[in-house]
Amino acid sequence: MIAENVRSVLQKIAEGNPCGEKITLVAATKTRTADEINEAVAAGVTDVGENKVQEFTQKFDFVHGARRHFIGHLQTNKVKYLIGKTDLIQSLDRFELADELQKRAEKAEWAADCLLEVNIGSELSKSGFSYEEAGEAYKKIGAGYKNIRLRGLMAMLPLAGSDEEKAALVRKMRALFDALRAEDAGCVHLSMGMSGDWQLCVAGGSNMIRLGTSLFGERHYPA
Ligand SMILES: *Cc1c(COP(=O)(O)O)cnc(C)c1O
Repeated sequence: MIAENVRSVLQKIAEGNPCGEKITLVAATKTRTADEINEAVAAGVTDVGENKVQEFTQKFDFVHGARRHFIGHLQTNKVKYLIGKTDLIQSLDRFELADELQKRAEKAEWAADCLLEVNIGSELSKSGFSYEEAGEAYKKIGAGYKNIRLRGLMAMLPLAGSDEEKAALVRKMRALFDALRAEDAGCVHLSMGMSGDWQLCVAGGSNMIRLGTSLFGERHYPA
């Protein structure tokens, strides 16, 4: 089932987004076993993302052949466990985290590829830079944190709202992404889209989607 789901999504995104860019599928693997994740990788998944540090480290040695993303809220006291282990940290959501990442990465002589997370729906329940401050923050981190390499933007759409409202938020993110990319060739990823909204995100110019349920089925959390 996992393999079929992966192949079906890969087929749907094969033509790229309307901006003519390749779309990267990131499997969001929270609650999934290493065996399930390896099944997805065998079917063509190239990138996997965990959103809890504990799950990331527990499964790290048992998942093979995929780029590792961290996609969840990252506490500063857990940064040390990710140093040298991630290909992309998608959830750089505050300066305090950038400071800690810079300090630890520099000590390890490593550079952390990251996306700046934007709270595009201005939701109290979500972290991230506000849309208004994101451009300045991106430039500040890009210029002043030499062991952090910013590679683009990440955002999550609000669950509530009409498709038109969501599409407008995607267009806003794409506009910010294009503005930053015009000044920085390293700005390449716009990571937007989960199981419930990825088609809409891709239509608006997202080039990276993070899917859990569409690939693995409904999540069951232990009671
Ligand atoms: C779980 C998760 C996803 C995927 O969610 P689905 O709705 O299951 O596709 C994407 N991004 C982040 C940050 C997540 O934690």
